[in-house]
Amino acid sequence: MSEIKDVVIIGGGPAGLAAALYTSRANLKPVMFAGSPPGGQLTLTSDVENYLGFDSILGPELINKMRAHVAKFGVTIFDENVTSVELNQAPFKIKSIDREVMAKSVIIATGAKALWLNLESEQRLKGKGVSACATCDGFFFKNKIVAVVGGGDTAMEEALTLTKFATKVYLIHRKDSFRASKIMQDRVLKHEKIEVVWSTVVTEVLGENRVEGLKLQNLKDNTTKELKLDGLFLGIGHKPDTELFKDCVKLDEKGYILTAVMAAWEGKEKIASTYQTSTSVEGVFAAGDCVDHVYRQAATAVGMGVAAALDVERWLELQ
Ligand code: NDP
Repeated sequence: MSEIKDVVIIGGGPAGLAAALYTSRANLKPVMFAGSPPGGQLTLTSDVENYLGFDSILGPELINKMRAHVAKFGVTIFDENVTSVELNQAPFKIKSIDREVMAKSVIIATGAKALWLNLESEQRLKGKGVSACATCDGFFFKNKIVAVVGGGDTAMEEALTLTKFATKVYLIHRKDSFRASKIMQDRVLKHEKIEVVWSTVVTEVLGENRVEGLKLQNLKDNTTKELKLDGLFLGIGHKPDTELFKDCVKLDEKGYILTAVMAAWEGKEKIASTYQTSTSVEGVFAAGDCVDHVYRQAATAVGMGVAAALDVERWLELQ
């Protein structure tokens, strides 16, 4: 039988890397499946200006620095996707196409993906005026004109955040009413900088190397028009990468992993554990955007990854 590792970390974004740093320095010799390609959402971002200690750094460069830092402490990293897990009893089994690893504990840090419209022009201009995070990128649109797509709370929040920077924010929604909470809708509808464009979809993002405008289609009367602007923010939701775990650990109705602290916060059935990052399975912990649909920042993911690592260390000591 192959050696049983103390901890396997699934996911190679900021949460997984932070967990790897702490568990390796605790001498737990972690094994990480970082995914292929590795690095998560940060690899899709251009400039990052809100990660403490770096006044401006490219997302992929930040991830590379994190990986180099972690590698110094002897983490085994496989840039492979996990294809299946067996978490019903310890030791847990984690498989990729190339290998199977057994572990006493697991940290799930598989992250989430922003949903996109999947237009060719939108994908091409990602990081060049197209973004899915106003908190991260709003600052680059000082005194510019931007648009947000969506009708839920994320879109309302994105639009309100952008009013702090932009001179004008179009909020483009495919229906003629929002599904967002009433209080958020009220704030948006009252805001002098926000103009709602109802019953309309974006059919093309205009611009060669930077966003210069949008082509819109009104779904009620089928008319089309163009808007000149500098930035497009998607606020149409996120999808956590938790498909692999849906039969093993408790998820909420949107597919986010419930940890003890999130289950309590969401008012869900209690997860009986003294460890905040514990999932519903003892010995399996989770951190980062696969858990957190509220803050979704690299820095908060790092914080949660550290918490999960400390929880694992303390839990293993008692086994
Ligand atoms: P939601 O699923 O609630 O809303 C997504 C919005 O995007 C909908 O209005 C939907 O339109 C629209 N949409 C989806 N796909 C497309 C598409 N392809 N083209 C155009 N429009 C599209 O996601 P959110 O991220 O807004 O919210 C997720 C959860 O998180 C919610 O429970 C929300 O309340 C919560 N949240 C809470 C916040 C807060 O309280 N501060 C902040 C952010 C989120 P349609 O309405 O037509 O389906």
